[in-house]
Amino acid sequence: MMDETDFPVDDFAADFDVADFEVGYDVDQRPDVAALEEGCRTFFAPGGPLQSAMPEGEERPQQLEMALAISRALAKGANCCIEAPTGVGKSFAYLVPLFERSRLAGRCALITTETIHLQEQLIEKDIPFLSEVMGIPIKAALAKGRRNYLCRRRFALLSGEQRDALLPLPSLVGDVARIASALENGASGERDNPDFRVDPATWDLVCCEVGNCLGGKCEFFRECAYMRARRKWEEADIVVANHALFFTDLAMRCGGETAGTLLPNYGAVLIDEAHTLENNAAEHLGIHVSKSGVLHALNKLYNPESARGLLVRPGVSTALRAAVASCRDEAYGWFAPYENLLQQCHESALAVPRNLEDSGNFQSQLSVLIEDLATVAEREEDPSYRSELESALNRCRETIDAVDAFRTRRLPDTVYYAESDRAQISLHGTPLNIADALGEILFNQDFPVILCSATLTVRKHFDYYFSRSGFTNGESLRLDSPFATDQARFRTVRRFPDPSTPEFTEALIEILPKLIADTDGKSFVLFTSYQQMRRCADALSDEFFNRHWQLLVQGGELTRYQMLREFKRDVNSVLFGTDSFWTGVDVPGEALSQVIVTKLPFAVPSHPLIAARIDRIRQQGKSPFGEYNLPEAVLKFRQGVGRLIRRRTDRGIITCLDPRLLSKSYGRAFLDSIAYPLEIME
Ligand code: SF4
Repeated sequence: MMDETDFPVDDFAADFDVADFEVGYDVDQRPDVAALEEGCRTFFAPGGPLQSAMPEGEERPQQLEMALAISRALAKGANCCIEAPTGVGKSFAYLVPLFERSRLAGRCALITTETIHLQEQLIEKDIPFLSEVMGIPIKAALAKGRRNYLCRRRFALLSGEQRDALLPLPSLVGDVARIASALENGASGERDNPDFRVDPATWDLVCCEVGNCLGGKCEFFRECAYMRARRKWEEADIVVANHALFFTDLAMRCGGETAGTLLPNYGAVLIDEAHTLENNAAEHLGIHVSKSGVLHALNKLYNPESARGLLVRPGVSTALRAAVASCRDEAYGWFAPYENLLQQCHESALAVPRNLEDSGNFQSQLSVLIEDLATVAEREEDPSYRSELESALNRCRETIDAVDAFRTRRLPDTVYYAESDRAQISLHGTPLNIADALGEILFNQDFPVILCSATLTVRKHFDYYFSRSGFTNGESLRLDSPFATDQARFRTVRRFPDPSTPEFTEALIEILPKLIADTDGKSFVLFTSYQQMRRCADALSDEFFNRHWQLLVQGGELTRYQMLREFKRDVNSVLFGTDSFWTGVDVPGEALSQVIVTKLPFAVPSHPLIAARIDRIRQQGKSPFGEYNLPEAVLKFRQGVGRLIRRRTDRGIITCLDPRLLSKSYGRAFLDSIAYPLEIME
């Protein structure tokens, strides 16, 4: 169903050449490169507006260099890729030319980032500050996914006479009362309102949903928080979003999605924290179907266990409810072979063999249900209720399409795998050639794309990143770190057990307290294996307690955010982390004085996506180690050690306990990425 309130989809079929770009503004209003560059030079010059507003700030030539490169790209309508190490001041470097460009543009500039922390910093601090200092009244807006907003129409439906049938549990009645009272008190309708922190099952019934909006025909249209937000995005010069929203929107645009797009039409895109580009795109451009998602959609229609759901309503036949119940049974049966496969192999993720037999009954039952449901929705007179039915119908259609695409392997050059996370099974079809896909749908469009991150190059070259991301049509720039090379020491081991041997973990347990004593706590210890981290934590917790080092271990009671907060608060604490602590963590100052890398972070090819990427490279007659494993590990290593020095005043030690750094020839690729003096611990 066409959602009339959604933004129109651009025509993405055109085959652009870089010279043909009109970059989102009228041709006669194209920004003049000399004027853009001059604006940046003046702003960042010693004694210029920035230094006058921040007298304590130091001159950063790299910041100006980055701003000039972005100015050139914006003026030419070309793409640009920049490695900007921590401390360059990249957000000001891209905001200043974007501000200048926004004065002329007919379409907003979109900034997309990985972390909410950076989005908030841009919206709450950087953009208002620069707007004032530059004297340019910039309108900026934070774009969030629509599920972050309350749908007043859906809430009215839930608060009406159907409430008890719609709520999945009687105990959730209190949530409805809470939301009602917040609205009476003038709540805006955004999810971050404390009164909207209700059970996710309740929120799911009242939040805005794709394809479930009456638009201008809705009686709540004028007061709708989501519609207000969208108007703000449309009027904004700069829209800030996260990568997930950006790629979901991009996938809709390139798929010719009829339900419109999520973001306003933009005339330039700046992708910050762009090192995650390949994985983010892979996640959003493929097929995903989860058992919990399918059951959730069916339960919303009718849950035979609780006898609740949309179809528990006078006039709806018991036969239709029975059809939903039967679909639920078939769904359990359809996922069963995939669950059994994972259980038998004791794996959490596995590529699915082509000949795995699943039951075809689920698809046929779902087809019958879709037909019957469509008839009921067509006859329904209450527009709000009909909208719910049509939305449920769309979910069923999407499910049947995803199931069919998965079973028939419809997408080419794709890895199909099953994954289980906390006993929840999901099936995925993830494209392997992201570079070609992004080359077509992102880097060859009628808007310039600027990529930046602190970590994009391997041995000072962008080749690997370009080969994975498909970046094309533009300039690249690698900036030097503004930090001094004596801000940290880098030490490593020559004689230490090989990481593949059992002695390695025992050696870690022995050496870690000695190393951490050098900084009296204040250390991040980065692991590549959860089991190894747990073994070390169990063995060392008493000793750390006696030394008054609070030990914070990932996977315990605290969330990642709570661990970080505690680590910063307790200055002598030690944090043991795996994957997510290697990147995106900012702890400036004394609290983080040492980063210990236990092992070089080579990805384990046991995950089907990694294994398939490696196989693909091998089939192309290339070396997977040189073409994928090594550069990926170097980038991750750079991310990990980059946690230490975040400010010019930071000091500390980086310690790597993997002897392969010195014993293997490829160790050079890692050593070359460290600018600090090397010490070898004998
Ligand atoms: S306009 Fe759409 S999203 Fe807003 S309250 Fe109405 S139906 Fe819900």
